[in-house]
Amino acid sequence: MSDRAPQPVDRQLPTDEARDLISLVRDIAQREIVPGAAQEEGAGRFPREVFSLLSDSGLLGLPYDAEFGGGEQPYEVYLQVLEELAAARLTVGLGVSVHTLASYAPAAYGTKEQQAEYLPAMLGGGLLGAYCLSEPASGSDAASLRTKAVRDGDDWVITGTKAWITHGGIADFYTVMARTGEEGPRGITAFLVPGDADGLSAAAPEKKMGLKGSPTAQVHLDGVRVPDARRIGDEGQGFAIALSALDSGRLGIAACAIGVAQAALDEAVSYAAGRRQFGKPIVDFQGLRFMLADMATQIEAGRALYLTAARLRDAGLPFAKQAAMAKLHCTDTAMRVTTDAVQLLGGYGYTADFPAERYMREAKVLQIVEGTNQIQRMVIARHLAGPEER
Ligand SMILES: Cc1cc2nc3c(=O)[nH]c(=O)nc-3n(C[C@H](O)[C@H](O)[C@H](O)COP(=O)(O)OP(=O)(O)OC[C@H]3O[C@@H](n4cnc5c(N)ncnc54)[C@H](O)[C@@H]3O)c2cc1C
Repeated sequence: MSDRAPQPVDRQLPTDEARDLISLVRDIAQREIVPGAAQEEGAGRFPREVFSLLSDSGLLGLPYDAEFGGGEQPYEVYLQVLEELAAARLTVGLGVSVHTLASYAPAAYGTKEQQAEYLPAMLGGGLLGAYCLSEPASGSDAASLRTKAVRDGDDWVITGTKAWITHGGIADFYTVMARTGEEGPRGITAFLVPGDADGLSAAAPEKKMGLKGSPTAQVHLDGVRVPDARRIGDEGQGFAIALSALDSGRLGIAACAIGVAQAALDEAVSYAAGRRQFGKPIVDFQGLRFMLADMATQIEAGRALYLTAARLRDAGLPFAKQAAMAKLHCTDTAMRVTTDAVQLLGGYGYTADFPAERYMREAKVLQIVEGTNQIQRMVIARHLAGPEER
């Protein structure tokens, strides 16, 4: 409707290198991601070639050690890269976040030998990862998972079904949480399973409301054999690893949510400047100006919150409470802002001719993944008031 270009986001970045990185990401986003986004999301096509390009550009291992092929960037920079990617297309931003989550176990808990063997290909060698915690009968109550790993000589044999797995069926490696011992959180161990392992298969992708380019599928493990060298961390440490990964992963979801919200705001501003009713651009009506002002303010507050959590993490300080707050606030913000963007576009907002309705459908899933927003409130309350009585 209007050729008014969106205002670039005012970013606080710590170094010139970080500023160059954001410019590079914006350039890739505008050239390689945005042009195909609407059509490919409609067709449910996963842009694998974009992930190869991101890997070649050093953007798939940003927060990890340079020694193993990572970019050694602080979280505050990595998250702003994610935000830019998600604004261009959520399938890409969320995909990078999930890949980072899947790489976390070997990066943070692997032995030096495991890190040297597996990380370079994950962080810059073109591989794509998946993170397998959820199961058909265990979502929020992830510690009740039933997938089993049984020791057989120097190997483990893994059997069970993982549910809702992002990149299920297309990933090159799967970080799998499986039960090796007692019921509950202490009986779970983490394994790194290659995508081409015998006995590993994926169901047809789920038919989802949005995020249709990102395949989400059940992954079946039918007697998958992996050597003990692919066990990450100690036996029984898997749930702690999974939760620790999620503390950081939630920040990725928060940043993606702000990216989607920012894209919706930019679309709304641009549309409102071009659409005329009652003889003037609708952006001149105070009712809409206030709506835009509220949208922008919520986005800035969300960005500030996820950056606060990231800076705590970068300083080596506890950040789990702030990460849960950021995930909760940023994803609720994305839902509100994208809903308002549809409203602001009127009837056109309800059609697939404009991206606002896609942003709204995409925002919804962010309130659910990596711990629903009810679970985030439980995490925050636990930090305030201690564990609930049983
Ligand atoms: C598109 C998509 C991608 C995903 N990707 C992955 C992935 O890559 N890897 C992976 O492991 N998982 C993935 N998930 C799974 C996701 O993490 C779970 O869907 C989520 O944790 C919720 O689990 P559930 O769907 O089983 O819901 P349930 O746990 O059954 O929850 C149902 C409802 O009950 C509420 N609820 C549950 N317990 C409580 C409580 N104690 N107090 C208050 N309310 C409660 C929940 O908030 C929710 O509203 C993905 C999901 C989706 C939709």
